[in-house]
Amino acid sequence: METIRSRCIRERRIALTDEALTICAAAGLQPVKDMLIKNETVPGKIPLRYPLAVKLVSRDASHKSDVGGVAVNIRNKKQLSETLALMKDKIQKLVNPPTIDGYLLQEMAPAGIECFVGGRRDPAFGPVIVAGLGGIFIEIFKDTSIRLAPVTSHEAAAMMKELKAYPLLQGARGKSPADSQALIDIICRTSALLAACPEITEIDLNPVIVHPEGQGASIVDARIFFQEPAGT
Ligand code: ADP
Ligand code: MG
Repeated sequence: METIRSRCIRERRIALTDEALTICAAAGLQPVKDMLIKNETVPGKIPLRYPLAVKLVSRDASHKSDVGGVAVNIRNKKQLSETLALMKDKIQKLVNPPTIDGYLLQEMAPAGIECFVGGRRDPAFGPVIVAGLGGIFIEIFKDTSIRLAPVTSHEAAAMMKELKAYPLLQGARGKSPADSQALIDIICRTSALLAACPEITEIDLNPVIVHPEGQGASIVDARIFFQEPAGT
């Protein structure tokens, strides 16, 4: 993490998506399998299984979908090169085109419930951990649950249960219940990472795709912000 952090501070930028995911992996938050490529040329051998997702890696765009920097369900190599060429073209035509630092090829996660797990350093309370369901639940209903970090698995379970959307995780309307244990584990590890690393001011795993019970959860996106060194 130290290498990534000093590079970010030196270059006065946020952690890139691939760097944030590397830090997560080091903290036991294993993301889906991925591969970073520097430009839109598809390498001969890709050690990943289709279908893939493609993401723009850019120091200027941490919200990749907003700039057309996310494509999903890519089925083969031909579609992959077309997608990369199209993505590059569209990004370069934007009014303020973001720097293209590369592209992240990722295996597609199986279906599940999109949740988010985040943490930040509150000026009064110190490290706090937040969790909820993704999409409209956070944006419109503000349905989140928050605790001081780090949390135990017992506390993480309580956080999940106090969400208004909790019945969806339990399997409302005949749907199979989600793997709550996998989500609890991710909440705990994220809170431990935040508590252990004061240099991290904010971390966001969004989405964490929670699969049916026994099938785990997939981390497919992460953002990490570091504390600016004093005097800058
Ligand atoms: P951003 O938040 O920067 O726009 P994300 O990486 O979160 O970009 O991707 C946007 C959406 O695309 C996710 O919320 C998810 O629905 C879908 N997605 C991205 N990567 C994957 C993946 N590897 N597997 C399945 N779905 C994905
Ligand atoms: Mg995201």
